[in-house]
Amino acid sequence: MPDPTLDRLAERIRQRVRDVPDFPQPGILFKDLTPVLSDSELFSAVVRQLADDFSSHDIDLVVGIEARGFIFAAPVALHLGTGFAPVRKPGKLPYRTRRIEYALEYGSDALEAHVDAVQPGQRILLIDDVLATGGTALAAAQLLEQLGGRVVAAAFVLELAFLGGRNRLSAFPVHSLVKYTAG
Ligand code: AMP
Repeated sequence: MPDPTLDRLAERIRQRVRDVPDFPQPGILFKDLTPVLSDSELFSAVVRQLADDFSSHDIDLVVGIEARGFIFAAPVALHLGTGFAPVRKPGKLPYRTRRIEYALEYGSDALEAHVDAVQPGQRILLIDDVLATGGTALAAAQLLEQLGGRVVAAAFVLELAFLGGRNRLSAFPVHSLVKYTAG
């Protein structure tokens, strides 16, 4: 059943998201969320909604994916009363790390987390700003599982549903506030 409160929030987000063509490379339509962040009421509503959606999931730890995932994950962690941990690009974290490499359309990339970022069995909510192909979130989830955590859900503000990223994340529920069905 459609939830009118959620629909209203989704519509407000859609109105504020700025489409930037050909960034960071030709052919990419970049979804810029900074106009959402600069609207304190809307930013707060987004964080509250993401936290409310998982308040009954016994989350122990919220993990954000570099860099825009941090912006949403940290305040959601505060709302849920959990800790926060970052998953970052290689070479950014100061302490000992575990790394996962993953394939991109052309070439590969990698993500790292501190070896002690996760306690064994912790129930993790993974957050990023945008779900596109799902490769980044899948790699982050695998990394967290290798560290002994249990990814119980992934949440995104925006989902580029036409790219099918959700299908790659079938191991846990995937939640997004706004779904784009066409690029
Ligand atoms: P993915 O293809 O799901 O692995 O997306 C990789 C990362 O790039 C995610 O962390 C997203 O934040 C970001 N991203 C991918 N496509 C876009 C887009 N069109 N607009 C903004 N961010 C994007």
